[in-house]
Amino acid sequence: RAKGAGKNTYQIYTSSMEKEFLKEYHLERALRKAIERNEFLMHYQPKVEAKTGEIVGAEALIRWQHQDRMIPPGEFIPLAEETGIIFSLTDWTLRTVCEQIKRWEEMNVPIVPVSVNISPKRLLKNDWVETFLRIIDETKVNPEYLELELTESVLIENEESFNNSIQTLKNIGIKISIDDFGTGYSSLIYLRKFKVDTVKIDQYFIQNSLENEVPVAKYIINLSHDLNMNVVAEGVETEKQVTLLQQYGCDQLQGYYFSKPVPAEEYIKMVSGTRGQVHCPKVGS
Ligand code: C2E
Ligand code: MG
Ligand code: MG
Ligand code: MG
Repeated sequence: RAKGAGKNTYQIYTSSMEKEFLKEYHLERALRKAIERNEFLMHYQPKVEAKTGEIVGAEALIRWQHQDRMIPPGEFIPLAEETGIIFSLTDWTLRTVCEQIKRWEEMNVPIVPVSVNISPKRLLKNDWVETFLRIIDETKVNPEYLELELTESVLIENEESFNNSIQTLKNIGIKISIDDFGTGYSSLIYLRKFKVDTVKIDQYFIQNSLENEVPVAKYIINLSHDLNMNVVAEGVETEKQVTLLQQYGCDQLQGYYFSKPVPAEEYIKMVSGTRGQVHCPKVGS
């Protein structure tokens, strides 16, 4: 009797907290093995010139093919950050993208810069600049084709030595962009200190405030231009958004309206287009 009750209590406990814990535990174990099991892959989403629709860049976005499920980064990047897996995962990502760019170069595919998302947690271990430089050196990629997407938080939390690290990478030709701009607390003027090349307006502002009386995106675009920074709008889904962003003078657009993130082979068909011209058919047609 007592045994049964005990078992029952155990089951109640299992059905709530412990189940969550076990799920996370299994996910963590699977995540730890995923690199060696070759379960990660990169998808690429084009960025187009707002005026012409030409593909002028791409963002690399990680995907996890685990058993028969494609797990989106929103589900495992936070866990990778909590567990420290993010260190090797970021380095794997950067190396994979560099190798990919190098292969495209060898295939004579028209190359446009590719950006890689860097978790702020990766920058906590101070081997990061050295590691990134080593990966670039080993893969022999042209650093001019590489862009790093950082978030505002890393610039706010870090000091002078961090600024020096960023400049070291910029000096060899790597571009720096600020992802999800507008969701944090930094001002554009502050970003200037780091000689940021590009500001990416968070998709929230594209989807929620573009048509408001206070179109935040418009002000971000104007101020960024005054400070000599390039502007990309994220999460562009409708023709109306494209038209407004063109009017506001946004430099580049990225979003489902043009293309979802796609596997490398599909992406390369898009950039190669007809006559080897880099062209995105959706704008102006
Ligand atoms: P992010 O860097 O801001 O990437 C943009 C996200 O918006 C991507 O989601 C992309 O698929 C999605 N997106 C693009 N266009 C549209 C659109 O028109 N509408 C909507 N609703 N969404 C759109 P994804 O691939 O699920 O990535 C989510 C986040 O996970 C990324 O946000 C980034 O913070 C992180 N992430 C992705 N790949 C990596 C990676 O390789 N390393 C790290 N550290 N983080 C990554
Ligand atoms: Mg990004
Ligand atoms: Mg973003
Ligand atoms: Mg985001």
